[in-house]
This record gives sequence, C-alpha cells and structure tokens, in this order.
Amino acid sequence: MSLNGDVSNLSSQRPTSKDAIVNLDRGDPTMYEAFWKSAGADADTFIPGWTSMSYFSDATKLCFYLNAQLTHQIRRLHNLVGNAIAGDDRFIIVGTGSSQLFQASLYALSPPDAAEPMSVVSLAPYYSTYAPMTDLLQSRLHKWAGDASKFAGDRYIEIVCTPNNPDGSIREAVLCSGDGKTIHDLAYYWPQYTPITHAADHDIMLFTLSKITGHAGSRIGWAVVKDREVAKRMMYYITLNSIGVAKEAQLRAEKILQVVSDGYENTPNPDVEMKLFHFGREKLAVRWRKLVEAVKASGIFTVPSFEPAFCNFIGEVTENLPAFAWIKCEKNEVEDLERYLKEKGVIARGGIQFGMEARYARISMLDRDPTFDLFLERLSAMS
Ligand code: PMP
Repeated sequence: MSLNGDVSNLSSQRPTSKDAIVNLDRGDPTMYEAFWKSAGADADTFIPGWTSMSYFSDATKLCFYLNAQLTHQIRRLHNLVGNAIAGDDRFIIVGTGSSQLFQASLYALSPPDAAEPMSVVSLAPYYSTYAPMTDLLQSRLHKWAGDASKFAGDRYIEIVCTPNNPDGSIREAVLCSGDGKTIHDLAYYWPQYTPITHAADHDIMLFTLSKITGHAGSRIGWAVVKDREVAKRMMYYITLNSIGVAKEAQLRAEKILQVVSDGYENTPNPDVEMKLFHFGREKLAVRWRKLVEAVKASGIFTVPSFEPAFCNFIGEVTENLPAFAWIKCEKNEVEDLERYLKEKGVIARGGIQFGMEARYARISMLDRDPTFDLFLERLSAMS
C-alpha cells in the first residue's frame, strides 16, 4: 500500500470550483469541526509551559504515562454510552492512535519463541491498513494471511472490526479455534454510527478518539484489555516504540471527552445543546438519505442496506449509519470502480485494498459539507 491510506493528504483542501478533485479516499473526520466550533472556549485546552514535562504520570501504574483524568474520562464515556465494559478491573492502555495499539496488540499476542509466525486474518472486506501494518517490519512474530473465511489452521489472530470499515456490517469472530486470539477493533461502535445493542466485553478492544469526536490529529486511541500479561506485553511494545504518548495530546483528549460526557450528564447551559452523538447521527442520517437517493437514481451503483435495531443509548430504534459508503458498480463495463470514479473527479479507495473485487470502492462519509455535497453532485451525474 502506498501512503494513500487513511492518513494521506493531511492538508485538507476545500473543493471550491467545479474542477476541484473530491478526495474521499481517506477517513478524515472533518465533519465534526462544526460541532466543536459551536462548543467554543468550553472545549479549549491551556497548557502552561512548565507542566506535563515528565515521562511519567504515575510510575506505579502499568500504563505509567497515562494521565489519571484521561483514564477517568474514558471509563466515564464507556459507562455513559454503554458500549463496552471498561471498569476498574480492565486495563486501559492509551496509544498514539489506535494504530499504535493495533501493532502493540499483534506484538502481545504473538508468542516470541514460535517456529512459525502467527497468521493475522480478518473477514473480507477488511480495513485496508491491517495488512501493511502487520507486515511492515516483516517480523518473525506475525504475518498477514488475508481473508479469515479462507483460513484453515489453529494459530491465528483474527481482527474483528465492528461495525466494519469499509462496509458497515455488524460482525462477530468467524474463527473459533482454542489457540486462536482475537482483537476487536471497535473504532465505530458509537451511537452516531450504529445502534448500541450491548456492552462489548472482549479480550482486547480498540477505540480511537479520531472517530468518536473527530480529533484524529490528536492521535489518541485506547485499548481496553482483560488480561494483565497481555497488557504488560502491549506496554513493553509501546515503551520501546515511543516511551509513551504525548501528554499534550492526552490533556486535549481528556478535555474533549469531558465536554462530550458533560453534554449528556452535566449540561452547563441547558439552552445550548452539546450532544455530540446526536449531532453525528443527524448529519449522517441526512448524508445517507441523500446518498441512497443518488445511488438509486444512478441505476448503476448499489450500497449495502442494514436492519435498524434498538439503541440502548438513544433509547429508540435507530439505523446503522456507517462512516464509509461501500459502493458497488453493477455496470459490466466498469471493472475498476476506483479508476472510473477518478475519471469523474472523485478519489475513492478501490475494493482490491480491502481484499475484494475492483468493482467496489469505499468513500468517506465524514468529510466537510462542501466536499460531500460536491461528491453527491458528481455521483448524481454518473450513469
Ligand atoms: N481502525 C479502524 C477500523 C479505522 O478505520 C481507523 C482509522 N481509519 C483506525 C483503526 C485507526 O485510527 P487512529 O486514528 O486511532 O490511528
């Protein structure tokens, strides 16, 4: 994979003219800027120059660099939303994005003395970055082995992403050997994207600030881990990889998460509605409705459809509103949808990168309004 992953094109250009390229390849969550603008100074972070200088926050703790306030806000948010069991009997490990924690999890779950590397698998279509991250260092510990449904064997790490990037499907592990391990990537298990049907309780669960609040640039993710030995090995990885996570980013994350929870539990001003998950749901519901209309009108594209379910957090039946649209082109002449869209001025990520056919492509639903509107305009003109 080239670095045209979810992390490419970091300078977000705003398409202003009809000739502008609409880049929806990356999952850059700039849709949330509007919410945070309305939060104003309440969401600001101030950091005096002499503070947060030490490597440590609490040297007696396993995750020695983790600020107590951030741990508190993470547990508070899971408790409020009810999407995961993350109480005091679970280890919270913060990473530089959940990307670092993914790599730390692979390290922790791969036995150091095995004759063969652990096979890392995920059901296709799978998040395009899993394969290159697994094989980046061509390690003897683990190797990418592709689609979980095609895997035969006992020694594996299965990554379960639910709701899934790229297609929004709700998933469970497909393999079930006694020696197999799982990593649950729950980046999108939040009420703006999907009904919260239960509190997840898996061995390793990964979350990221990027997709909850949109603060992808702060590079904060966390793992909720059951087993102390696994948590210790993850910490060994992070200690050698980066000796912790920036305190500045932690301070920002704890403030942002506090504002999110306060919006539901402790509203300072009842006239100002600061409900992040409701903001996200409303935006995505409008975008999905418009997208489905445009797709139907085109007659050549399809997108997956989903069963609504009762969301314990919202308190009513809600729809699945994925952060990505997984588009299939039904027109026989179009074998490479990524190329076809590019010719029409839309950059998407093609199906091959997700372990699928090239007639699929993924587009982000989380960009700013002008970009999304221009995309819809272009999609509507395709036939
Ligand atoms: N997992 C999934 C499924 C994702 O979509 C992403 C971001 N695109 C990540 C992990 C990585 O997120 P982060 O910004 O925390 O590294």
